[in-house]
Amino acid sequence: MYRAVTERDASFDGAFYFGVRTTGVFCRPGCGAKSPRRDNVLFFADALAAVRQGFRPCRRCKPLEPTGSTPSWVRELFGLVERAPGRLSSSDLRAAGIHPVRAARWFKEHFGMTFHAYQRARRIGSALRPIQTGSDVSSVALASGFESESGFRAAFERLFGAAPTRVAPAVEPVRVHWIPTPLGPLLAAARSEGLCFLEFVDRRALASQIATLRRRVGALLIPGEHPHLERLRSELARYFEGRLRSFSVPVHAPGTAFQERVWSELQRIQHGETRSYLELARAVGDAKAVRAVAAANGRNRIAIVIPCHRVIGSDGQLVGYAGGVWRKQRLLELERGTGQHE
Ligand SMILES: [Zn+2]
Repeated sequence: MYRAVTERDASFDGAFYFGVRTTGVFCRPGCGAKSPRRDNVLFFADALAAVRQGFRPCRRCKPLEPTGSTPSWVRELFGLVERAPGRLSSSDLRAAGIHPVRAARWFKEHFGMTFHAYQRARRIGSALRPIQTGSDVSSVALASGFESESGFRAAFERLFGAAPTRVAPAVEPVRVHWIPTPLGPLLAAARSEGLCFLEFVDRRALASQIATLRRRVGALLIPGEHPHLERLRSELARYFEGRLRSFSVPVHAPGTAFQERVWSELQRIQHGETRSYLELARAVGDAKAVRAVAAANGRNRIAIVIPCHRVIGSDGQLVGYAGGVWRKQRLLELERGTGQHE
């Protein structure tokens, strides 16, 4: 994919999209813009995934517009969204000569979502960027055009798929926050049982991991602080400085019985050590279950603290890691004490 980007290979247009961390812009592979450095590039399967993670559509290759002819009023509409300080209402659209119903139909047909849902995704996306740098939720909400923090919370919940009416009010919500690290921001979630989610924000299938978490804990996910998250933040800081070898923050990782066995076995792999999938399969009592063990490893929702990165191929290859193999490598180097003097 990176080669397609550097060669501006338009035959990959539509197959994937890429975002550039330093500019916050995302493009089609064939875009004529200057080649970004590999470590600044993130890849997305679809354009909305890039929008949801805070990337702004490139003005040159217009990655949100389906290839082929895009009606001029749709171009106009994308421009309006990017320029608007807040949410565009139906009367804003009418004032620009765009019929709201027509806009709604076009978005439904091309993105399978309403125009308002698109605007929300775009605004939450841009809201995520300052959250990554540690701004608090209320100032982010105001700066990104939400009238109030509750508006932001509601939009956040919709983005993460919460369905407040279906959740028993007695269930304690899960608090979600962002933790910046040298390897990129982590999305962390906790409630009183413990830390229940920790993933790099650009990991593969982040949305489906969040959906699974919600199903498993049956609770709302709302932005906010929690003592477990505060503890995690300070432990992670020491971990990345090479001064912490094991985490003490409690972990709450409900899964299938098999997944829970694998995840608890993972926690027995010491800092600085690795195991192969086969060794892990033997440890959970079934040497033939290598593939199932690898799948459970991949479904771990608590990166780093449940150290799925310490599992490698039998030949020593790093193989897959949802947060990217480069992160797996950096984590293992850090733990072996070879990463400090780069
Ligand atoms: Zn572009």
